[in-house]
Amino acid sequence: MNAPERLPTPMNALSVDVEDYFQVSALAPVIDRASWEQRECRVVRNVERLLDLFAHRGAHATFFTLGWVAERYPALVKRIVADGHELASHGYAHLRASEQSRAEFEQDVRRAKAVLEDLGGRRVQGYRAPSFSIGESNPWAFDVLLDAGYRYSSSVYPVRHDHYGSPDSPRFAHDVRPGLLEIPLTTTRMLGRNLPAGGGGYFRLAPYRLSRWAIRRVNTIDRQPAIFYMHPWEIDPDQPRIAGTDLKTRFRHYINLDKTEPRLDRLLRDFCWGRVDEVFGLPAT
Ligand SMILES: [Zn+2]
Repeated sequence: MNAPERLPTPMNALSVDVEDYFQVSALAPVIDRASWEQRECRVVRNVERLLDLFAHRGAHATFFTLGWVAERYPALVKRIVADGHELASHGYAHLRASEQSRAEFEQDVRRAKAVLEDLGGRRVQGYRAPSFSIGESNPWAFDVLLDAGYRYSSSVYPVRHDHYGSPDSPRFAHDVRPGLLEIPLTTTRMLGRNLPAGGGGYFRLAPYRLSRWAIRRVNTIDRQPAIFYMHPWEIDPDQPRIAGTDLKTRFRHYINLDKTEPRLDRLLRDFCWGRVDEVFGLPAT
């Protein structure tokens, strides 16, 4: 452990969106959902590698898990819980909130919560929308989450991006409804713009030291905990390549897959990481 480099406080929140490489929103235009069942599963071994790494570094995390994945791999859900991590929901079928009706969204988030609670034996209180798809066009999604029994959402990335992002949304955790906290992914403010500092593709694309600088800045200047996210397929350079995607999508999805795991290991050593519920003061379940 690099203890001298580690900031003692605040603890930052680590999160993983548990989905397989063929369920990624950016690849959805070229992958028929009906083919999911036939594709090679890699999510189990990738999550197990993350669990081993987190255990090795003494980090805890929140796993926003797809109901679809949980139903097929119940032992994985049980290990996430047994290892002391928070089990949360990424919806059932990885549909963007913005492409569903209110009734469809409600069915998806309720189904995921029921599946996860049944398998994990714990109340699920967190939700993350696929592709950060809650924004100005569908604020009713927060009402649905509250009614379905969720206590927090981490579904907004206040950055400008062609597939997602709400650059004018609040940057830090806030009550978006009485009883429902929204915890936006971490950004740092530079030259009047929000720069992404909460993981995802940016973590693979940019040099590691940029992420470290940005998270330290949020901890020391904003005096806020950071919330970071990643996907299991981002540590899997050997995943099958999906044909038919455009150059930009290929670049974004496949760049630096071999560098993510060593970078993540540095991130685990450089900061103190915990579960979302723990870091943001929600009652643990
Ligand atoms: Zn996702």
